[in-house]
Amino acid sequence: MSLEGVYDEGNVFALILQGKIPSTRLYEDEHTYAFLDIQPQSKGHSLVISKWSKARNMLEIEDEALAQVMATVKKVAAATHKALDPDGIHIAQFNGAAAGQTVFHLHFHIVPRWAGGPAGFSAHAQGNFADPAALEALAEEIRAQF
Ligand code: 5GP
Repeated sequence: MSLEGVYDEGNVFALILQGKIPSTRLYEDEHTYAFLDIQPQSKGHSLVISKWSKARNMLEIEDEALAQVMATVKKVAAATHKALDPDGIHIAQFNGAAAGQTVFHLHFHIVPRWAGGPAGFSAHAQGNFADPAALEALAEEIRAQF
């Protein structure tokens, strides 16, 4: 999907927000939702989305929604740091299929990174699917740090 287009109400993150498909929750407030990625690039890879914005990408998002999402990104990064003690955390966001975007509801990736090379790290959209029970156990560790 290009940068131009319309928001698809049936996209996977819209369905997660509607409770139609399950997700492993890390944090939520009135405006935002954070959950673990099912195809993690590293242990603790999570995503943050707006609950109300219909923006598909950075070019469309309302300033207010962006500020809310970024505040949650900061909270989730801090909790992830406390829970997992990574050496670094990369935060990523893709706009349009040509840039690697696959789900067209704006989101930020929070990806813990450990020094010493790529062990346990996969490139964007190249990781294995995670075991849901393992994700839930990990989420419990991170949730305890908010
Ligand atoms: P994008 O490629 O659009 O930047 O990122 C989409 C992300 O959503 C990918 O990292 C992908 O693994 C993740 N993802 C896709 N479908 C689901 C899903 O049903 N549940 C969860 N938790 N993550 C998903």
